[in-house]
Order: sequence, then C-alpha cells, then structure tokens
Amino acid sequence: MALPPLPLNSTLARLTWVSETELSLDWQDGHASVYSLMYLRKSCPCAVCKEEDVHTLGLKRGIRLKPKPVLTQELTIISVIPIGRYAIQIAWSDGHRAGIYSYDFLRKICPCSECSTKKTDI
Ligand SMILES: [Zn+2]
Ligand SMILES: [Zn+2]
Repeated sequence: MALPPLPLNSTLARLTWVSETELSLDWQDGHASVYSLMYLRKSCPCAVCKEEDVHTLGLKRGIRLKPKPVLTQELTIISVIPIGRYAIQIAWSDGHRAGIYSYDFLRKICPCSECSTKKTDI
C-alpha cells in the first residue's frame, strides 16, 4: 500500500511501513513513532469505536449489549488520507474509515519508551 505524501508545514514529516503490521511516523522534530496496526485501530478516536468502549463497560456491569467486533490479525490499512495539515484518516480493510487521527493525538499515544516515561512524569 502506497502511503500518501503529507501536506507541507505539518508536524508529521513522513509515513513509512516498518513491516506488514507496523507503521512508522516520523515527526519534524526528529522523533519517530512506531505503531502496530492493532494499536492504532484500538486507539481509533471515532464515535463508533468510542461507543464500543461504552459497550464494554456495559458488559462489565452485566448489561447485555451488542458484542464488540473482534479485531483479527488479518486487519490491515488500505489507505491513509491526509486531512488538512493536522490529521490523517485511516481506511481499514474491514471497511471502517471513520477514524480521523490528529497529529496531536498520534503523538500523544506514541508507544515508545521515551514518550511513555514522559507521561508518567506528568
Ligand atoms: Zn473507529
Ligand atoms: Zn515517542
């Protein structure tokens, strides 16, 4: 899958595939974030996925709700669309494409040890 060129002046400088299941985001300040596709999908900020979290909570409280869709390892990204200068929209192989990941959000969820350490410092 070819990743799109990013708009000029964005804080995100480059998108590259690390492997079939990992995507690397290079930031203009020199930092690089590597996200597994599963992690990105689980962090999807769209209303539908957030609602699924509510469903999971409901299940914990014994409320019967529709089951959360199962994410499989075969799930992959079919396209990444830049949204203005601040976000990317990710289209998944299961048809889900409502998630718009702002660069701020992506940077905040960076799973690297450096960023995780920063988070615990705050
Ligand atoms: Zn979503
Ligand atoms: Zn990081």
